[in-house]
Amino acid sequence: MEHFRPMRRLRQQLSDEDTIGILQRATSGTLALLGDNGYPYAVPISYVYADGHLYFHSALSGHKVDAIRACDKASFCVIEQDQVHPKEYTTYFRSVIAFGRIHIVEDESEKLEMARMLGRRYNPNDEDNLQKEIEHGLSRMLAIRFDIEHLTGKEAIELVGGKQDKQES
Ligand SMILES: Cc1cc2nc3c(=O)[nH]c(=O)nc-3n(C[C@H](O)[C@H](O)[C@H](O)COP(=O)(O)OP(=O)(O)OC[C@H]3O[C@@H](n4cnc5c(N)ncnc54)[C@H](O)[C@@H]3O)c2cc1C
Repeated sequence: MEHFRPMRRLRQQLSDEDTIGILQRATSGTLALLGDNGYPYAVPISYVYADGHLYFHSALSGHKVDAIRACDKASFCVIEQDQVHPKEYTTYFRSVIAFGRIHIVEDESEKLEMARMLGRRYNPNDEDNLQKEIEHGLSRMLAIRFDIEHLTGKEAIELVGGKQDKQES
């Protein structure tokens, strides 16, 4: 297991429960990969969270897929809240960052289960429609699994019961 650095402003760190709550509520985030020519590739994507994993679906090819095949280290960021307070020159934010390993799922039954999970996340209680969509689209999609190794949530100091944090930098 890699060593992941701690958050400097520890008082702003969310509990595990609150952090996972954000992952369960949000519908998209930014997946950061090692892209072409050593440039980081940060790509917005929909996802579903379950039991320490993030699941994505994708077309069969492209920059994202090439990057995942070349390097399995990834991070993923979700912004739940970005409430700008102009007069304070700040934003009351709440966000999550995950680090982990990312893989294309080759196992057909796992892939099918992931497609169902993703479908239900975005369109619950519509099993007939989901089944048709899966029959039509499964062979043309890739299922991608992100195994979370390190997960943190953070909120703006203004959201932490009004505490000030100005002396830390
Ligand atoms: C809210 C949201 C949800 C999304 N959900 C999904 C999803 O669930 N699954 C999925 O596969 N895709 C999703 N997308 C689209 C995703 O961002 C990519 O465009 C798509 O996955 C293709 O990526 P690629 O690397 O294969 O594209 P390629 O065409 O191979 O990328 C080539 C280049 O195009 C540019 N590019 C690619 N995507 C974008 C982009 N979104 N914005 C600006 N420039 C771009 C970059 O310069 C990239 O290097 C979502 C986008 C948004 C905004």
